[in-house]
Order: sequence, then C-alpha cells, then structure tokens
Amino acid sequence: ISSPASLNDFGKQHVTKGLARISDGVMARGQGSYVEYLDGKKMLDFTCGIGVTNLGHSHPKVSKAAAEQCMNITHVQCSIAFHEPYLRLIEKLLPEMPHRSLDSFFFWNSGSEAVEAAIKMARVLTGRQNIITMQGAYHGRTFGAMAVTKSKTVYSDGVAPLMPGVFSIPYPFWHQLRLPPSTPSSVLTDECLYQLHLLLSQQTSPKDTAAIIIEPVLGEGGYVPAPKEFLEGLRAVCDQHGILLIVDEVQSGFGRTGEMFFIEESGVRPDILLMAKGLANGFPLSGVVSRKELTDKLAPGSMGGTYAGNAVSCAAACAVVDAFREENILQNVKARSQELFAFLNDLKQDQTLAQYILDVRGRGLMAAMEFASSEAPGAEFDPATPKALTVKKGIASRVAKKCIEKGMLLLTTSVYEVIRFIPPLNISQEDMKKGCEIFEESLREVVR
Ligand code: PMP
Repeated sequence: ISSPASLNDFGKQHVTKGLARISDGVMARGQGSYVEYLDGKKMLDFTCGIGVTNLGHSHPKVSKAAAEQCMNITHVQCSIAFHEPYLRLIEKLLPEMPHRSLDSFFFWNSGSEAVEAAIKMARVLTGRQNIITMQGAYHGRTFGAMAVTKSKTVYSDGVAPLMPGVFSIPYPFWHQLRLPPSTPSSVLTDECLYQLHLLLSQQTSPKDTAAIIIEPVLGEGGYVPAPKEFLEGLRAVCDQHGILLIVDEVQSGFGRTGEMFFIEESGVRPDILLMAKGLANGFPLSGVVSRKELTDKLAPGSMGGTYAGNAVSCAAACAVVDAFREENILQNVKARSQELFAFLNDLKQDQTLAQYILDVRGRGLMAAMEFASSEAPGAEFDPATPKALTVKKGIASRVAKKCIEKGMLLLTTSVYEVIRFIPPLNISQEDMKKGCEIFEESLREVVR
C-alpha cells in the first residue's frame, strides 16, 4: 500500500464498522498540542484522545521513562511478583489521593476494567447485589460497565440482557429534570437526593444495595460538574446504610478540572476511586483505589489480569506524576481555563450568537458549550432562549466538523447539542487562543 489515501481506504475496508471516527486519514505523529497525519495534515488537538494525553502528545519525560522501562522489563504478571514501577507509582500517588483513607491500590489497563473491578469489589465486600448509577453516566463498554452506563443506547443496543441489579437516579443536570439552565444547584440537588430516597424505599432496599457509582463530573452525559451538596448527600446516604461510594474519575481525574481529582473540591471521601486516561498519558493503565481495611477482605487471587498494571505503563505514569509537580501543570490548567471560560461566556453574550447558545459549563479544562436545539428536551423551558426551537438540528456536530476542516480536532458529547473542550493541560496561551479563534470562526459560519 503506497499512498496515505490508499492506506486510509484499506482501513475502511478492513477495520470493523463498529468503530466510528471523527476525522479522515491516518494519524502518524503527535507532539505537544498537535498531531500530524500521514499526508502531512497538521491539527491542533482539543480532544487529547478523549481526555488522555493530558500532558500533550509524546511528552519527553513520559516517553523517555517508557522507553527506558522497555529496555529493562516490559511485562511482570501481577500474580508472579511485584515490579518496581508499580510500587513507585503507588508511592508517588499516595500523597495525591483526594482522601488519606485511600491507601490500597490495584492497577488495570482500561477505565472499563477498573469499573468492573469496583463493581465486583462492592458486591463481594458488602454481600449485596444492587448498584445505583446516574442517568447520563458513562462507565465503559464491558458488560458490568455497560450496565451502569446510561448515556446513549448505542453502546448496548441489541446486547441485552445486561448485568442485572442496576438502578438509576437523575444527575443534578437541569436537562434531566426539565428545568432551565439557570436553575440553582440546590434545587437540582434536592430533587436528585429525593429521587435517591424514593429509589431506596421503593425499588432497591439499602440492605440489597452494594454501591452508588458516580462520575463527579458527568462526562459523556454532557460535561456537568456535580454540586458539592449532591456529593455530600450521596456520602451521607452511603454512610447511613453501609453502601459503598464509587467515584469514577476516569475522565475528570488527573488534573483535568484544575485539581488532581475533582472530588477534592467537595471534601467527600470515596470508598473506591477510579482513575485511568490521563494517569499514564496514553499508555493503557487504570487504577482502583480503596482502603486497606476494605480490600484486606478480598480473597487472594480474586483480582488480577494478564496485563494488569503493565510495567511500561506504570513507568510512564510515574513520569506523569513527576511532570505534574515539576511543570506546574495545575497552575496552567487554572490560567488557561480562565481564558477559555471568558471566551465561551463572551460568545454567550454576543449579539448574533447568544440565541444559539444555551449553556457554558464545566471546570478547569473540561469545558462545554451547549447549543439550543429543537431536539433537546428542556431547551424550550429556557425563557432566555426564545428562539431555541428555530435552530437547525445538529449544530454541535456541524461546528465540530467545521473545526476539523479548519485544522482543529474537537468532540461533541451526550445526546444534547454539546461541544466539549479537552485540550492538553499544558497547552500554551497561544495555542489556546488559536483554538478559540478556530472555534468562533466555525460557529459563525455554521449559524450564518
Ligand atoms: N469511566 C469514565 C468516566 C469514562 O469517561 C470512560 C471513558 N470515556 C470510562 C469509564 C471507560 O474507560 P475505557 O474507555 O478506558 O474503558
């Protein structure tokens, strides 16, 4: 196969249709905030491989650590022996944990596997079966993770029966309660905690309920940070009934929101904390963190997996944690986040654009803009956007497509009209400005 175009065609012929792609072409290289395709096309990357390459592509310290580990030992099966990067990583992560009770670690490859492990642990440790999840949640594509995923039907269409014993409550997201975006978070919180109370009295008794699983920032469901009071409310219910609180920070963790973990902001203690994506900046690695007092009750051999906690991935993750400290990553997130939100909020005030924009939300560099759409239930409840219903459908995907044409990778999210901005956490001021300009130009062309 000689040309980049024919290699791309070869992919279309031989790679399963079950995968979808937002851009055409074959990616060849990535450096910092940019990626390059085989045909030479260069793109500013505001997707980070869906929130993974948080330190940019091919971060020199991370790549070096992985390369050195490759020359040392690549695979130590976790049931055979400990390996040094595994233990060094725990040593580095311990002080970064959002609560000091979190002191017992287990590494897997992917976010989905971490979710599976957490569900298994919760069932085993409580002796109860049922799991409560949130409407709009995304936790992965394996069977247990898919069962607690409630963001889009496409992930499980035709796949049922899924894992039984899963119940859901609404997330404190105005859409889900059919309220306007300006609704105070206390109202949303009260309603959702009331629904939890009803669920525990009507459908799954606390004595049958093993865990509540939550993304503290709803990701694929629309980029919605949970109010502190909601997270505190969940903790209180869990404490009252001996239910475990599983906090899935696979997407929101590792500095994405400006703190190492979003849950830190609330001070709420997770019983099980899940991380992946940014943890190893692109090497497959996820972490399940709990407390020794709980995990000591697990039968030896009940957890594990051939590649779980791979040595190269762990070495890369050690370099990631070092880079966070050495390169003031969280400071950069805060500075760039202020610029991004100021820009998005300005667009929301803009005379011609305001009518198309329903909401700007998120935290840190996990930001979203939602457009008005006749397909978005709830839009019609917003008195501030009387023209919402006249807007053509699919505005978010058309804007994302336009950005890609103009040289910037950008993703939508959720069943609503939402664009998500997840640039590298160490993006320069100049590249942030450039991304904002491409976005504004694209949006103006789409709504013109
Ligand atoms: N949990 C959350 C919050 C996620 O965002 C994702 C991935 N988007 C997953 C779990 C699943 O992770 P993975 O794709 O690595 O299996």
